[in-house]
Amino acid sequence: MNTSKSDTLFEKAKQLIPGGVNSPVRAFKSVGTNPLFIQKAKGSKLWDADGNEFIDYVGSWGPMLLGHSHPKIIEAIKKTAENGTSFGAPTELEVMIAELITKIMPSIEMVRMVNSGTEATMSAIRLARAYTGKDKMIKFEGCYHGHGDSFLIKAGSGAMTFGVPDSPGIPKGIADYTLTARFNDIASVEELISKNKSEIAALIVEPVVGNMGCIPPRENFLKQLRQLCTRENIVLIFDEVMTGFRISLGGAQELYKIKPDITTLGKIIGGGLPVGAYGGKKEIMQLVSPSGPMYQAGTLSGNPLAMAAGFEMLSIISQDKSVYKILEERSAQLENGMRETLQKFSLNYRINRVGSMFTLFFTDKEVFDYDSAKTSDTKKFALYFNEMLMQGIYLAPSQFEAAFVSAAHSTEDIEKTNRAFAEAIKNIT
Ligand SMILES: *Cc1c(COP(=O)(O)O)cnc(C)c1O
Repeated sequence: MNTSKSDTLFEKAKQLIPGGVNSPVRAFKSVGTNPLFIQKAKGSKLWDADGNEFIDYVGSWGPMLLGHSHPKIIEAIKKTAENGTSFGAPTELEVMIAELITKIMPSIEMVRMVNSGTEATMSAIRLARAYTGKDKMIKFEGCYHGHGDSFLIKAGSGAMTFGVPDSPGIPKGIADYTLTARFNDIASVEELISKNKSEIAALIVEPVVGNMGCIPPRENFLKQLRQLCTRENIVLIFDEVMTGFRISLGGAQELYKIKPDITTLGKIIGGGLPVGAYGGKKEIMQLVSPSGPMYQAGTLSGNPLAMAAGFEMLSIISQDKSVYKILEERSAQLENGMRETLQKFSLNYRINRVGSMFTLFFTDKEVFDYDSAKTSDTKKFALYFNEMLMQGIYLAPSQFEAAFVSAAHSTEDIEKTNRAFAEAIKNIT
């Protein structure tokens, strides 16, 4: 595969941008190769600067539920742009998207739009503190909630990939307010609560974890979290930045039938433009400025282009019932193909899948939390990643990320991927 243009661009980028990238995992560092610079994308496919074609399972890290460059979304962005790109004043589109979000996720009675998932979680925590008058919060080892100071404690995603789950630069005073429990271990949560009686404002969780690879909640885990939070007056925050509109239209809260107090959203909600949101019970949301005292603002929040793309995305997926059926069918086809190959080679690697998000873990052990995810053979993953890339399959360059299938992936795309998978496994085993 000729990658000379990408390689040249990367050399130049490294002189100008830290690590040559504007978000760490993009650098392909943990798989020992240079990143590819992408020129364009359409449907299930990506093309790099050298003209190589790939079937894409990164989907911009989640947003591309319908595939790249969906004609209706591109059209909505173009049409909106002709009337101006930002006004810093309210627009009808913001009311329309808020109405649609509250309809899709009934636990959200009011919603505030922001520009990224990070902003959504930072604001949600501030709001939970304002609402309860308490300071501490609980998060789970390996869960990633963006790069806000309070969350970069035992964090997942790139922080986990690069071995810096606790980033330098975070004052001890702030870190002290973040307590970490183990995912799928309710006793670890109970222990933190009893040791910090009446001090915990919020518990934030990825209801299905995507950021240490895909890890579903065990039976009743979310229900027990709900019960504990209600009993202890702790605000339960579902961080559905990844799972929202992904694992079902109404997200994990719909799939597992649990009602959080606050939900954070991002990724799919922007249709590929930079958007995040947080919302929940009216009683809590009314504390947000200017209806209440908790301050949170944004010059470009509710940006018309972003709202147009997001509204179009949410409209399509809430009207077209075939989307989630296709996502499930293609994802199951992929999983089955991979399992066949693993069986043929007598390998017991773990596949975790919830709908159209999944991870193949290079370990024989069941993966249900941070420690079990860490038993994966990351060297083997790197070999696998490169074998797949050479065959035109573009995966996330880390063991600790989820892969995403889109509704634009065809059965042929999946068949091709399954053939590439068999070849890759043969070559690395
Ligand atoms: C991606 C992600 C975030 C951060 O969103 P950004 O838009 O990258 O700031 C937060 N929480 C979860 C669960 C995510 O997957």
